[in-house]
Amino acid sequence: MTTIDLHVHSTASDGELPPAEVARRAAAAGLDVIALTDHDTTDGVPAALAAGAPLGLRVIAGCEFSVAAPWGEMHLLGYFLPPADAGLASFLAAQRARRVERMEEIVRRLQRAGVTIAFEDVRRIAGTGALGRPHAARALLDAGVVDEVQEAFDRFLGRGRVAYVPKELPSIADVTAAVRAVGGVTSAAHLGTRATTAAVRRLKSDGVDGVEVWHPVHDDVITARILRVATTLGMLTSGGSDWHGDRAARGRGAGLGGAPVPAEALERLDRAHAARRREEGVRA
Ligand code: AMP
Ligand code: ZN
Ligand code: FE
Ligand code: FE
Repeated sequence: MTTIDLHVHSTASDGELPPAEVARRAAAAGLDVIALTDHDTTDGVPAALAAGAPLGLRVIAGCEFSVAAPWGEMHLLGYFLPPADAGLASFLAAQRARRVERMEEIVRRLQRAGVTIAFEDVRRIAGTGALGRPHAARALLDAGVVDEVQEAFDRFLGRGRVAYVPKELPSIADVTAAVRAVGGVTSAAHLGTRATTAAVRRLKSDGVDGVEVWHPVHDDVITARILRVATTLGMLTSGGSDWHGDRAARGRGAGLGGAPVPAEALERLDRAHAARRREEGVRA
């Protein structure tokens, strides 16, 4: 049995463990394949690859892009991304710069609401990782403003709360074009009830290759529905635990490997990747 998890985070973005540690944990948990899919970065991939290789763990270079959907923000997983590609690296660097500005605004709004944390507190927690709301949540926890990360989202950081700042988002078509240009494939993450045939057909027309079927927020009914939509539209399928670390998993979500992907789904992703490399004449 091959155990596959194609949605995993590290400290390269808002995960709790460094990428090499994530790879070691995955191997120790008996996984055969992971995709490291940090938010707006592939920076953790080389370390995860290096740590995974001697343990027999295959690490796929991935990224979770934030993109503009008809309904607001959508997450788009990119797979088989060459971390050294200069064009992709500069696009992602620009997205991370936007995350810095957004976090400055989040902190200003928190301060206006009477919560005294500083941007530097958040930066220290995030280290060199791509900044995200979970880092602000941990800063609020450290400051004793909240008792749990979840409480920070519920009271301050969640959509519609005082310190909620929407992202400036690239279009889906721009991101799928950028991923295709480097030979990669994309899959729309955790769509839940948004995955109607009409909505997914529209994603497909914007260049999206697949949909994330297996995910902790998808119950059996949703999982079956998304699988049916993907099959109807002839799209690829992906899935994974969206693991951010044990602490985060305790509140919500699954453990590493907790939303396993059928081997056949990965075989199709691999074939699509190989075909795209031929099409695009991608450099080795
Ligand atoms: P950001 O990209 O900065 O908007 O942060 C998004 C991340 O925050 C997600 O990937 C989750 O890790 C986390 N997150 C979002 N909503 C919640 C929530 N309600 N409770 C806990 N974590 C959340
Ligand atoms: Zn996250
Ligand atoms: Fe996501
Ligand atoms: Fe994620």
